[in-house]
Parts: sequence; structure tokens; C-alpha cells
Amino acid sequence: MKAIWFARDVRILYYNIMSKKRIFSGIQPSGNLHIGNYLGAIKNWVKLQDEFESIFCVVDMHAITVLQDPEELKKKTIEVAKAYLASGIDPEKSSIFIQSQVSQHAELAWILNTVAKVSEMERMTQFKDKSQKNQEGVGMGLFDYPVLMAADILLYDTEKVPVGEDQVQHVEMTRTLGRRFNQKFGETFVIPEPHITKEGMRIMGLDDPTNKMSKSAESEYNYIALTDDAEAIRKKIKKAVTDSGSEIKYQDDKPALKNLINIYSAFADKAPEEIEKIYEGKSYAEFKDGLAEIIIEKLKPIQEKMKALSDEEVLEILRKGAEKVRPIAKAKLDEVKKRVGFIL
Ligand code: ATP
Ligand code: MG
Repeated sequence: MKAIWFARDVRILYYNIMSKKRIFSGIQPSGNLHIGNYLGAIKNWVKLQDEFESIFCVVDMHAITVLQDPEELKKKTIEVAKAYLASGIDPEKSSIFIQSQVSQHAELAWILNTVAKVSEMERMTQFKDKSQKNQEGVGMGLFDYPVLMAADILLYDTEKVPVGEDQVQHVEMTRTLGRRFNQKFGETFVIPEPHITKEGMRIMGLDDPTNKMSKSAESEYNYIALTDDAEAIRKKIKKAVTDSGSEIKYQDDKPALKNLINIYSAFADKAPEEIEKIYEGKSYAEFKDGLAEIIIEKLKPIQEKMKALSDEEVLEILRKGAEKVRPIAKAKLDEVKKRVGFIL
């Protein structure tokens, strides 16, 4: 009897593993990882990795779409992977790897370039924003960024893409390119959906609540880096812009305060209304002190784990991750090559 139950359990387990949907996401090693990346992406990934077959990438090929110092890029690539691991991404459950170590990403991007249109790439908000900052010479890579991102996602039959709200437009573009390819060449790609969480969807800059917090921001007072120490966090929160008034109220006409409450809410796992209640009758200064302390408390274990990881062990995990996903990427790329008429 026991044996029968055991066999049934194994069958159910096997079915669960086989039917798990796949998610894919990545972060560029383009600067200092910040709490927007953590709350908008990584924190969400950690929650999703049990439910989904998860693939998380350090997208170094995306990072070089704006100028990077080569030595710094290497360091940041390892640092991003350390942040994934220290935040709770488990390499036994999820695959983590470096984008440039799986060459199929670049190959598929080239093929997708032939179905993408210049006019639709010109409409991408990120391209418009970043090219404004780099007017001296906007590279083709920056223009082509969404096509490479589509390749990243489509290579793995990804069903959901957990990103911050700023990347939803690119996931939409991925859907467009996937559908267009399927129409031209026959059913090849799974059409993915963006997956965003309410709390972390768009963390705004501490120095400018009208623009999102960014790694590539000019001032370090724009963001709190995952590696900032307690003193830096206190200083940056103190300096963060606030709105006129003195009450701690979560409302649209107070965008700076709303952003700070969102950060508090995401770190403390408390609704904005609860935070309003805690700080009823209290000053901005008291609220900011409380906010700085909760960020310090929540980042501390991540920072300790990041420090404890050696570069060598992380590189080993990344190499193993690349080995694990390469066969999936190769099978899909071969299918694509056949579809377009390449001889394998
Ligand atoms: P860069 O300025 O170099 O583009 P970035 O800070 O925008 O860097 P990315 O590597 O482009 O970071 O994005 C990694 C992930 O973090 C994406 O899922 C993106 O949507 C998310 N993300 C980035 N900034 C924020 C933010 N301010 N709030 C919430 N999520 C964010
Ligand atoms: Mg970005």
C-alpha cells in the first residue's frame, strides 16, 4: 500500500516539475545596484523561484550599450551575481549565468533584427531617455537593446518576465517580435507576459521623484546602493527631497513623500496606510529616521552575505548556470535557424 502511495507521490512531483512555467529576468552590471533593482526585481524573483522554473541572467551585453570601463564591468558582473545569491536566489533551484557566456543570445538578436522595425525602436522610452544623455554618439547597441532583450526572453520559452515597470514596454516589444516571427515563419516562440509587483514597480530617484531611481544616475544622491553602509543611507535619506507640508500623507500630489512611503512599505511589508498611521502627528524628520533604519536593517543581512561570497565560488556558480541553460538556448536557436532557412 505504502509503495503505491509513494509511486503516486513521485508521479505528482514529476508532474509538478515538468509543468512548471518558466520565468526569465536580468540586471545589467552597469553601475551600483540600488534598492529600486532590489524591490522592483530581485525581491520578487526570490518569491517566484519556488513556483517557476527560474532563469536569472547578469546581462553584460546590455551593459555595454553605454560606455563601461572593462575592469569595472568585470567587478560589477560578479557583484550583481553576488547580490542575486545574497538576496536569496538559490542556485539549486534557479539558474544564474552571465549573458555573454551563452552566445545564442547574440545570434538570436541578429535574426530578430530582421523582423524588428526601426520606427518601433525609435519609440522606446528608454532609448529616448538614454540617447538624450549620450548625445555625442548614440551607439547602435543602445538602439538595438530591446531586440537583444527579446532574444534573451524568447530563447527560453519564457512565460513570465518579472521586471520593474520601466521595462514593461520592452516586454511588450518582445511580444510583438515573437508574434511577428511566428506569423512569418510558423509557431516557434512562446509569447511571454510581464510580471510586476505593486510595491516595487517603480522606485523614483531620491533627488528627483519625477524620474526613476537608476544605476546610471549622475548623482549618488539619486539612489541607495545595496552596498551603502548605515552612515551613507542615513545621509542620503536625510538629503532626499520632500514635498511642501508637514504631514506624512500618501497622496499623488506629494510625489516625493509617496516615493519614500513606497520604499518604507516595500521594505517593511506594510501597507502605505499603516505607515501613515505610525507617523500620524510626527514630523518628516522622524519619518525619515524611521525609513533609514528600516532600510539599514533589511539590507544588513544581504550585505553580510555578499561580503562572505568569494569571487571564485560565484564564477563557478555562473559557469555551471551557463552550462545548464545553454542546451535550452541551443535547441531554440537551432529551431529558429531551420525556420529561416539556415543550413545546420
Ligand atoms: P541603468 O540605469 O543602467 O539602466 P537600472 O537601474 O535601470 O540601470 P537595469 O539593469 O536596467 O537597472 O534594470 C534591472 C531591473 O531593475 C529591471 O527589472 C528594472 O525594471 C528594475 N528597475 C530598475 N530601476 C528600477 C526602479 N527605479 N524601480 C523599480 N524597478 C527598477
Ligand atoms: Mg535600466
